[in-house]
Amino acid sequence: MTERTGRWPAGRGRIVVTGGAGFLGSHLCDRLVEHGHEVVCVDNCVTGSTANVDHLMSHGGFTFLGHDVSKPVSVDGPVDAVLHFASPASPRDYLELPIQTLKVGSLGTHNCLGLAKAKDARFLLASTSEVYGDPQVHPQTESYWGHVNPIGPRGVYDEAKRFAEAITMAYHRSHGVDVRIVRIFNTYGPRMRPSDGRVVSNFLVQALQGKPLTVYGDGTQTRSFCYVDDEVAGILALLESDHVGPVNIGNPNEFTVSELAEMIIEITGSSSEIVHEALPVDDPTQRRPDIGLARSVLGWEPDVPIREGLARTVSYLESEVNRRER
Ligand code: NAD
Ligand code: UDP
Repeated sequence: MTERTGRWPAGRGRIVVTGGAGFLGSHLCDRLVEHGHEVVCVDNCVTGSTANVDHLMSHGGFTFLGHDVSKPVSVDGPVDAVLHFASPASPRDYLELPIQTLKVGSLGTHNCLGLAKAKDARFLLASTSEVYGDPQVHPQTESYWGHVNPIGPRGVYDEAKRFAEAITMAYHRSHGVDVRIVRIFNTYGPRMRPSDGRVVSNFLVQALQGKPLTVYGDGTQTRSFCYVDDEVAGILALLESDHVGPVNIGNPNEFTVSELAEMIIEITGSSSEIVHEALPVDDPTQRRPDIGLARSVLGWEPDVPIREGLARTVSYLESEVNRRER
């Protein structure tokens, strides 16, 4: 049975996207503007860039507000929805910005829930597969409570997101705020920064530059990679549905990191070698979403095959690397 209710909000809505100048947030802004909505993008550009939304700046339905959402957030006029995507997301970024990451997941989520409550708006939280930590249930279903090290280096991100889910549910239960929670699994595509540090962008840039691909550990750890257009379609399906969540949105096709490295060398025709580097502390050994819930309540599943998604991402990163080298 599907709980999708059709395009929401009906007509021209006004939607706040925090983190809208980042990788995922900017694609979300694109789709929302295409759907005829007015978008207010709020971002302090700590890991994002206005370059990701430059093409929207002259669009009458798009406004950019440079602001740190860990500080109180104020937006003039009516708001139909607040999509809270602001947070460092790459392990490289959140390990460099541990306090900012904890603050945006806690204070930032509190502020954005306050905005949604004041405006009587729907609130959607960008949560993550990291709430499952190093999972001992495989594939991960939404009913699994996770296996997180609260005091390890990754705890700054994992626990911030777990707190964010908890306060989102508290605002829903205590204040009646209309909320949605999406648990996003590894997503890749154009607008990932070449220096972002995540595995897909690292391997593609290394392959394009003929440098060794850096596999951390023995490369047997697994991830399941979702192309950004599929991810955004799933997030919007959740926003438009009556289902609170949490709902896993990701691609269940699982690969070892070594398999990914070999595939990227083949796709790019690179002569790069593979080298092994130390495995980061608490790096999850396996990750794959169970998307049964998304299929049944949202009627959503991904459809971009990894080779096609990677080919689209290569074109973007190639031009970015060339532009930065010029
Ligand atoms: P990103 O780093 O490209 O984007 C995050 C954006 O948030 C950036 O533009 C950054 O400047 C902004 N930001 C960070 N802190 C802020 C603050 N205090 N105030 C205002 N803006 C702030 O990362 P992304 O991959 O696009 O991730 C977006 C969201 O999706 C994050 O919440 C992340 O946790 C979640 N997520 C992403 C993935 C993924 O695979 N991409 C997986 C799970 C969850
Ligand atoms: N990884 C790797 N080489 C890199 C970057 C990452 O082997 O250059 C591994 C990392 O150890 C992890 C997986 O790839 O096992 C995914 O890492 P990423 O940083 O993309 O995201 P995570 O899923 O860990 O949040």
